[in-house]
Amino acid sequence: MSRPTAKPDTDPVLVSACLLGTPCRYNGEALDPREIPVSAERIIPVCPEELGGLITPREASFFDAETTGAGVWKNTARVITAHGQDRTDAFRLGAEKTLAIARATGAQTAYLKERSPSCGSCVVYHGETRIPGKGVTTVLLERNGIQVIGVD
Ligand code: SF4
Repeated sequence: MSRPTAKPDTDPVLVSACLLGTPCRYNGEALDPREIPVSAERIIPVCPEELGGLITPREASFFDAETTGAGVWKNTARVITAHGQDRTDAFRLGAEKTLAIARATGAQTAYLKERSPSCGSCVVYHGETRIPGKGVTTVLLERNGIQVIGVD
């Protein structure tokens, strides 16, 4: 099944900043920039984890329950680090700030990095295990009518 693509219009589009080569990942390393199929002037880079106040580099985070991002908003899951630090509040704040940016700019589409506890849209981590689920930001954006397209 093919994945949806952004509508061919002039609207702004949110993009996970790490997909553009920004070294904002937990380990501070830059990814090779991904090809995002919209013109550069439409792209608004966002990093929900940095927007939530987390520094880079930072310890990797994952969900403590299989309810993943939806569970964070229902208080049935939390985002923690391997050393047991609870990062849930920062992840919620980053999601809310990302939604605020979408609303302020009129973005209706977001290309977000797959497998991240913020940005994942199909697969995320429960401990060290990959499971089906969504990131905290993805859930909030989708609940507010914004189409999220996962990018590896
Ligand atoms: Fe930031 Fe999302 Fe990339 Fe993680 S996946 S570094 S939260 S933009």
